[in-house]
Amino acid sequence: MQYISTRGAAPELGFDEVLLVGLANDGGLYVPKTWPQVSTEQLHQWSTLSYQALAVEVMLPFVEDSIPRDDFAVLVDRAYSTFQHSSVTPLKQLDSNLYLLELFHGPTLAFKDCALQLLGHLFDHVLEQQDRRVTIVGATSGDTGSAAIEAIKGRARADIFILFPEGRVSPVQQRQMTTVRAENVHALAIDGTFDDCQDLVKAMFADKGFREKVNLSAVNSINWARIMAQIVYYFWAALRLGAPEREVDFCVPTGNFGNVFAGYAAKQMGLPMGRLMVGSNRNDILTRFFESDDMSTRAVEPSLSPSMDIQISSNFERYLFDLLDRDGKATGQTMTDFRRTGRMQVGQGGWNRAKSEFHGFSLSDSACVAAMQHWHKAAGEVLDPHTVIGVQHAAEFGTVERPAVALATAHPAKFPAAVKRALGFEPALPSHLTDLYDRPEQFSVLANVLEDVQNHVLTNRRG
Ligand SMILES: *Cc1c(COP(=O)(O)O)cnc(C)c1O
Repeated sequence: MQYISTRGAAPELGFDEVLLVGLANDGGLYVPKTWPQVSTEQLHQWSTLSYQALAVEVMLPFVEDSIPRDDFAVLVDRAYSTFQHSSVTPLKQLDSNLYLLELFHGPTLAFKDCALQLLGHLFDHVLEQQDRRVTIVGATSGDTGSAAIEAIKGRARADIFILFPEGRVSPVQQRQMTTVRAENVHALAIDGTFDDCQDLVKAMFADKGFREKVNLSAVNSINWARIMAQIVYYFWAALRLGAPEREVDFCVPTGNFGNVFAGYAAKQMGLPMGRLMVGSNRNDILTRFFESDDMSTRAVEPSLSPSMDIQISSNFERYLFDLLDRDGKATGQTMTDFRRTGRMQVGQGGWNRAKSEFHGFSLSDSACVAAMQHWHKAAGEVLDPHTVIGVQHAAEFGTVERPAVALATAHPAKFPAAVKRALGFEPALPSHLTDLYDRPEQFSVLANVLEDVQNHVLTNRRG
């Protein structure tokens, strides 16, 4: 498989290069040149496979030019051995036509582990082949940092430095980053805000001398390999519920449009699917787009579901590229205009197509609390404040003909304050994390000064 940029002006690359570069050098995002096609017969054969075996089949066409099948199968097995549930992402019935796909059984209790656990092993494999090392830096306001740290810890050829705003991440999230013991993991508390952390990371990438000296890299949400790994659980859930004979709807709480784009990719590959339902909180730019072709940015407002407090969904560009008939020039122009004006319209044809493939929904904080209370009472289920948006979306807009699968993107114990506000108690952490508050923390506190952070990276990375 070769990959092309959504802006049409970057070189075509193979999987190993796409993995390591992340963003294309024309500012675009890499997408597969064509979608591999899965036949009905193959779907039947796949319906009895384990999660890991299915994952190899679904992803192989994307990686096989860079990683042979047998090697890839080993990496997949290693990646999902850290999950606490034997079926990796179990399905749970909530109501007659409503299922929960639990994506939070990985080490950090959020769905990001499904992709990042594999990414860590893919990095090591490709770097080993090319005899290279990288230094990964990233900024986090919570979820992504811990998932990235768990993915890279112990990997031979990568070191990771995660910057977080001191005193501004939740205690669970902080401890998930600072109690990891590995010589290649570095949690850095910055005396500043999340935006300061992001600016420091951007400045490190912009500093060519530094970037080349330490082989700077990132594992952020626009990396194609993260989308690829998320395609697997759409196949998994649909096959459990009767695909290819029966279609299902998927309800996905969305921030960067990454997770739901993986669902769209599964559909392009031939998985029969109803609608992809896109849920947001009060930061509802995507809902407004699907309702009225109004993609206009507003200020980001904090909500009960912080991992979706986003106005510009970076992965939307991948879908836009398809809406514009894969015209890279038009996509680049539309994105540049959007950045300048804060508005985007795709025109009647594109919008009609978008409306037929996606359905938008948003839930205010108070409605979110009410829904958490409802599902606790009606089904005995404690839902986290992100997941509940998809569940409520299914309940309000699901159909009788098709089952709906709501993606459970985080374990409720990851957001104890929101659960306490809704239900009056804090959910217990799963058994592998019950001692999280007894583990010793280790992190460095640094001033919001680029030179200090760069010096810290230079002196603490290996090799
Ligand atoms: C990251 C995250 C999301 C949003 O996922 P995207 O891929 O950005 O759409 C939703 N819920 C939780 C719990 C998350 O951590």
